[in-house]
Amino acid sequence: MTPDKVVERILKDASRERAITRSEAVLLLSMPEDSLEAALLRAQANAISRRRFGNRALLLGQIGVDMAPCAGDCAFCFFAKSHTGIRSSTLPAEEIIERCQRFAAGGARGVFLMTMHRFGFEWFLDLCATLRRSIPAQMEILANVGDVTAGQLGELRAAGVTGAYHVCRLREGVDSCMAPSERVATIERIIGAGLDWYTLCEPIGPEHGPKELVDQIWLGVELPCRQHGAMQRFPVPRSPLFHKGQISLSRLAQITAVIALATTGKQGLKSIAVNVSNLVGLFSGANAFFPEAGEPDGQGPTRDSSAAKEGFTTALWRRSNEITTADCRNMLIAAGFSNLMDTQGRPIRPLHDDWSEPATISATGG
Ligand code: SF4
Repeated sequence: MTPDKVVERILKDASRERAITRSEAVLLLSMPEDSLEAALLRAQANAISRRRFGNRALLLGQIGVDMAPCAGDCAFCFFAKSHTGIRSSTLPAEEIIERCQRFAAGGARGVFLMTMHRFGFEWFLDLCATLRRSIPAQMEILANVGDVTAGQLGELRAAGVTGAYHVCRLREGVDSCMAPSERVATIERIIGAGLDWYTLCEPIGPEHGPKELVDQIWLGVELPCRQHGAMQRFPVPRSPLFHKGQISLSRLAQITAVIALATTGKQGLKSIAVNVSNLVGLFSGANAFFPEAGEPDGQGPTRDSSAAKEGFTTALWRRSNEITTADCRNMLIAAGFSNLMDTQGRPIRPLHDDWSEPATISATGG
């Protein structure tokens, strides 16, 4: 069997640091995930990303700090007001601080604070200011909140927030109650406010075709993001999209590889993320994970997120235990990565260090 000549030519050009075009991305996403060409695509993205990022990887923790039946009402989400059974609650600041410290101990250099689409802005602002005073200085505070104004973004920045996750999701406005234009406007405000913009192609399900994937991915190609990547959708029981099922890790990796090749040459982009954290993604161009818990305390298994009364992580969608910083580092070591890095791509600590000891390298990493 010989690989398709057109695909071969695209991958060869990509190895010479030419970013793929939209039509090439559609072609690469049209290939069956178990084809020889898809395997070559993933291998090429792996080689290019290792070189581009110096074989370094990034860990960014995540904490859902409030939860409530959500007016965003996304057809795939655990919290959508039409089908959720959860009650409103917030995570106490002391627990958030403790979780951040565990993330920092495990090598994470930032933490996403996740809220519902509507949230108490003053409460969130106070929380960010409290965290900034209480957690290690090198730990960046990143907001993952609903659509906010330019003024609010300025206040968050003044309180010590350095970046924000935001996305115009696949089928936004169809599978959600939010207008795509408003989502894009918030992204533009994040960039305009001088915050680092983090984004993903998400939430990917089996029904999403190559063209709509590329249309969604390209927002992060055209606008300056600090991080791009791909996240699969986990089916939530009782949600309208439950019966659509989920994509395989090889399909998720194929999409991750296309994102890696589409963003070649974007100097401000410092990492490619894949969620769920998995080895296939690490061999397909990804170099960033979102651990759901920090360094384990050795007192037994990690929290079962599906049983949690307050706070959440993406483990809730999987209905499983949280993936820790130690789990992530073990996958990175198994994939042959050498160092952890900060959000700007600077090395901070070798993965093979003894992580039961505090870091001896300076906080800024240099
Ligand atoms: S994805 Fe976000 S906006 Fe949509 S229902 Fe869930 S919490 Fe709300």
